[in-house]
Amino acid sequence: MKDFTIKRCQKCLLPENEPQNIRLDNNLICNICRQEAQEVRMDWAELEAIFENTLAKHRGKGAYDGVIMMSGGKDSAYLAYLLKRKYKLNLLGVINDIHYEYQETFDNAQKICAALEIPLQKNTLPKKMMQDFFNFLFTDQELRDKGHGHICLYCGRLMIRVAGEYAKAKGIPLVFSGHNPQQVFGMGESFEVDENRKIRQQMIIDLVNTAVTKSHVRLRLRNKNHLLPFFPKELFPAGVSGLFMYQHFAYKPLEMMATIKKELGWQPINKFSKTYIASGCRLAKLWMHLAGLNNTSNYVDLELSEQVRNGVLSKDMVKKFYEEAFDATTEIEGLLAELNITGGVAAIK
Ligand SMILES: [Zn+2]
Repeated sequence: MKDFTIKRCQKCLLPENEPQNIRLDNNLICNICRQEAQEVRMDWAELEAIFENTLAKHRGKGAYDGVIMMSGGKDSAYLAYLLKRKYKLNLLGVINDIHYEYQETFDNAQKICAALEIPLQKNTLPKKMMQDFFNFLFTDQELRDKGHGHICLYCGRLMIRVAGEYAKAKGIPLVFSGHNPQQVFGMGESFEVDENRKIRQQMIIDLVNTAVTKSHVRLRLRNKNHLLPFFPKELFPAGVSGLFMYQHFAYKPLEMMATIKKELGWQPINKFSKTYIASGCRLAKLWMHLAGLNNTSNYVDLELSEQVRNGVLSKDMVKKFYEEAFDATTEIEGLLAELNITGGVAAIK
């Protein structure tokens, strides 16, 4: 989405592109914008009631009320702030170490948890297994899509699953995560009332199930059975439930950032652009680049366009994010070496 000269949606900034079936009409409005304008969402009061009922059901049942997945970014920081200050929950912070994060991720998470008096534990995943996991995902020609969104799909599920396993081992009933509304919908975990949205949600659930089954087939074919547990069929282990905060409350990233800066001394991790609205692990640099080579939108592009579409971020802010994006060439070369990938980016796009 970096190149702002090509044809793009006047409402959400998504460029027209074939792999993802994004088409613009004569008024330069994309098919996603047209479709979402006609859909109804569950009202906030109802969503908030679901959230509070779930809390009431589990509060006080374990050594902690819940595990909170920390990432150092704005979404988990604000989530921690709200759960602690507004809901007075007894929380255990957990941050997964996949070996491809920026150090600032851990520093930020530590700072936020300290400010809120939440104990934070690092859940370090086996290094060689993670290298194999990402090597497999980046190199498998059958699993990948042109936007390389499959990396986040599989890794995102693994992150939630291991947080759930962590909670289960400690007898903690709930896992809280700061996934944004687009991410929650993309996992098929949102609450829906609109018939069209229910159909789209079922399509997503079917796609995810197919993707997991396919990953198992590919792992067996490529003699990588040791990675099978990293591709779970269920998002949560039995006895643990997840609560995705940002589908129960309006998602307002700019206001959230202002609050956590003021209240917790939170600072953005500016690794992608001088303008902070999104962050991620080091691998995001690689899949963003690969999506660019394939002339299609990546996962961050799709999320930001969704936030523009919903009036959550301004077009100018998103434009600035891309205009001020950092060059990632040397970082990408280093990552390829770390992941044992030979032949350069051309070999895996
Ligand atoms: Zn659009």
